[in-house]
Amino acid sequence: MHIPELLPATRAFLAKPSRMLIDGQWRPAADGETLPSIDPATGKVIAAFPSGVVADADEAVRAARRAFSGWKGVTPHDRGRLLQKAAALIERNGEELAELITLENGKPLWEARKEVGTAVSWTEYYAGWTTKLLGDTIPLSLPGRFLNYTTREPLGVVAGITPPNYPLTMPLYKAAPALATGNTIVLKPSEDASLVALRLGELFCEAGFPEGVVNIVTGLGETVGAALAHHHDVDKITFTGSTEVGRALVRAAAGNLKKVSLELGGKSPNIVFADADLEAALKGVFMGIFFCQGEICSAGSRLFVERQIYDEFVARLADMARAVKLGHGLNPETKMGPLVSRAQQQRVLGYVRAGADEKASALSGGKAPGGELAEGFFVEPTVFAGVNNQMRIAQEEIFGPVVCAIPFADAPEAILAGNDSPFGLAAGVWTRDIRKAHQTAAALDAGTVWVNCYNAFDNASPWGGFKQSGWGREKGPYGLDLFTQIKSVIINFS
Ligand code: NAD
Repeated sequence: MHIPELLPATRAFLAKPSRMLIDGQWRPAADGETLPSIDPATGKVIAAFPSGVVADADEAVRAARRAFSGWKGVTPHDRGRLLQKAAALIERNGEELAELITLENGKPLWEARKEVGTAVSWTEYYAGWTTKLLGDTIPLSLPGRFLNYTTREPLGVVAGITPPNYPLTMPLYKAAPALATGNTIVLKPSEDASLVALRLGELFCEAGFPEGVVNIVTGLGETVGAALAHHHDVDKITFTGSTEVGRALVRAAAGNLKKVSLELGGKSPNIVFADADLEAALKGVFMGIFFCQGEICSAGSRLFVERQIYDEFVARLADMARAVKLGHGLNPETKMGPLVSRAQQQRVLGYVRAGADEKASALSGGKAPGGELAEGFFVEPTVFAGVNNQMRIAQEEIFGPVVCAIPFADAPEAILAGNDSPFGLAAGVWTRDIRKAHQTAAALDAGTVWVNCYNAFDNASPWGGFKQSGWGREKGPYGLDLFTQIKSVIINFS
């Protein structure tokens, strides 16, 4: 496979010894062990990073605790300036970061560049909030004269545990609002994409964050992640990942009742009515499932199409899927990259086999190009027709480029089936009828409903799930609630 030459900065970073960030120092794991970082397009090892152990997690939490009182005392303006500096450094090093994202995660470079853009604007967005964390004054009805005011206080030490699908923005989704509100943080990035987070750590250091305010401990989820989740001196876990691990974190958090917020899995319905702008709907449905190889929590993986347009719509979607050029994400002609790991590829192919066993028919894709053991962890974009909502492929999250197309007769049937899922992260509705759009949006059990668009994300707009898709809302002013607690002060001046 041809791979364009890497930037000198990327090559230099990959050649560095494997180190993680604890208390402002770059150090190996306590026992010196490392894990390989694998380019999922080739299956080849590109670098190594520390395989942290419990002692490393402990050390990072201690450093974050020591740094907390100092960081809490930094003025809001100065906290904001540091975050602005970090944003500027991310932007200045954007091409290198985009290359690293593609090398570790597999997504095409054009998608990785978009991720860098989001990382910059996200960090700037929360930098702006540092000086706007207001409280209230509350009129009391007690006898006498009282002043009651509230302040927003940081929680303390936050642990952020993240998945590999957005290796740059996921750690920042945790770090930027946590730091803006005066917390210190220990990040545990996915073992399938840790290099980008480590490079981000270098940029935080360069921006001038005090020692211990940002710590990055790499390693396995069941080791470092579990140690942080159980740790009695961690005040808050902010997690993005699978519903299964989310459940384990809730149990682990019970020890010291640390706060927990969870961004979990999805099986989002994307509902296309016959009166929709079908060209726009086709593009939206296509991107809704195949963007980021379908490795995105909001993937519109259950496609409901009104019966009279079902055959033609689904056939055209399959044509578009067959035309997708798979390849190394650094090649400019690549439209879709590989899945992040061999394990994820095998998991997705297992679901494809389950679909065939349940008599769904793959109109496109349905296999790994070149066979399951070919180099690179690719899966062809797959459109399943003949699906009903009770099949495993329609109920379980696949987290890959596989869409299940299900016909429906009318809005009530689409809504009923759309809501028939343990998840409730997002949903899409495509129609020109404004009444139908509002009625359907109101009836869907989802944290976000997109009408005549899909995967339209904005830093200011709340993000999070109904049902088993999560707890809490990230982004916008809602995100501040996840990292602060309210203090009420009552003064008697009678
Ligand atoms: P995962 O749950 O397997 O892993 C996520 C993180 O948790 C990793 O850093 C992993 O090391 C860590 N982890 C694993 N076991 C752990 C344990 N026992 N204790 C503590 N930490 C542990 O998920 P994944 O496969 O990496 O990511 C895909 C999942 O993430 C999908 O379910 C997807 O929907 C979800 N996701 C959700 C959102 C959202 O915003 N709702 C966004 C992206 C991804």
